[in-house]
Amino acid sequence: MRTGHHGLADIPADQATVRRSNLSLVLRHLREHGPQSRTALAAATGLNKTTVTSLVGELRARGLIRESGPQHAGGVGRPGLALTLDGTRVGALGLEINVDYIAAFATDLGGRVLIDRRVGFDAMGCDPERSLDELARVAREALAELGLLGIHVAGITVAVPGLIDGADGVVHVAPNLGWYGVPVAERLSWDVAPNIPVTVVNDANLAALAEYTSGIAAGTSDLVYLTGEVGVGGGIIAGGRLLGGADGFAGEVGHVMVDSAGERCGCGRTGCWETKVGLAALVRMVTPDHAYGVPDGIVRDPEERLAEIERRLADGDPQVAHALTEVGRWLGLGSATLVRLFNPRVIVVGGYFARLADHLLPRAQAELTRLGVTGAVAHCTFVASDLGFGAASRGAAGVVVDRVLADPTAIEILPDISTLSRA
Ligand SMILES: [Zn+2]
Repeated sequence: MRTGHHGLADIPADQATVRRSNLSLVLRHLREHGPQSRTALAAATGLNKTTVTSLVGELRARGLIRESGPQHAGGVGRPGLALTLDGTRVGALGLEINVDYIAAFATDLGGRVLIDRRVGFDAMGCDPERSLDELARVAREALAELGLLGIHVAGITVAVPGLIDGADGVVHVAPNLGWYGVPVAERLSWDVAPNIPVTVVNDANLAALAEYTSGIAAGTSDLVYLTGEVGVGGGIIAGGRLLGGADGFAGEVGHVMVDSAGERCGCGRTGCWETKVGLAALVRMVTPDHAYGVPDGIVRDPEERLAEIERRLADGDPQVAHALTEVGRWLGLGSATLVRLFNPRVIVVGGYFARLADHLLPRAQAELTRLGVTGAVAHCTFVASDLGFGAASRGAAGVVVDRVLADPTAIEILPDISTLSRA
């Protein structure tokens, strides 16, 4: 059992809640402010020193913090031993399945990156069973690597481009994957990690969180993130919080209708925004022979497709230049609605939008200005993400880390702390 509440079992529920939130307070404080003595922790958190000593004892027993040598508190008296976040034992695994790849990203609690990789995979051309097999294979491989590093994996979060029931980890619908009612969490739990909690979250929402915590616009409390993949998803950070909506379905910007006479979309409707700006739209305009959904037996990683497009642009191909102008214009046009609705300071674009930012964003920004939604009233700038195609898997790992920080009792007490501290 990973979720044992050793140490809390014999105290009443309300006290257990207080204890849990105090453990979280101390752990977060050490993570954000670096090594501190018990005295300094007590002063900073407003908890009394006896409580802090007890909390520190429990966090050490769970292997989450360690003593790291004398620390002068800045005042008189002998120095206390400093306590440091010990992130190296506990890890978080983020996975992402998208139309043409599966990504894995793992960090320890301190933020050290342990795994960051993407494998090309044609999820569009496979049935859900086959895709889940491949996702399970990537998960098993990552868990084996983390196991060799001595990492206890506190949780797995899977990013999926679709509408997800967060409570049971079922993907209601992921149009570009052709998934309807796919029980992702249950399948991974059963097949790969029976003892590790698995959650499933919309990919754009996770990428927005990654941008907000560690991306190019980190800390911008009102931002919109757009995934530039085959599908176009949105994640909205408003007032420093991810906007979920009543069912967690907010941000499905790719399926806002922008052209009633437009192309048919993967969702079954016509003229959705992603039929104008999604990677499939660009590829269809530029390399119709290799368009998504045209079976030619070759799985192309998005980077590979983009390299070809860039090569042709450099060769002065007018068809590519025209296509990029069109995508840039539609990107600005659709974003104008988002700016009106959410008044973001920044629109962070990811995926292929970021890779081709120099060719897309000036046009998109000009379109925003032309439509009269920037300027004195609402300053909003497009910026290209520097997190690459892995933003959602990074955000997925971040969600797991956040869960541990919020409830350190989710991590088991080590069988023998004295053995560990001697090592
Ligand atoms: Zn659609």
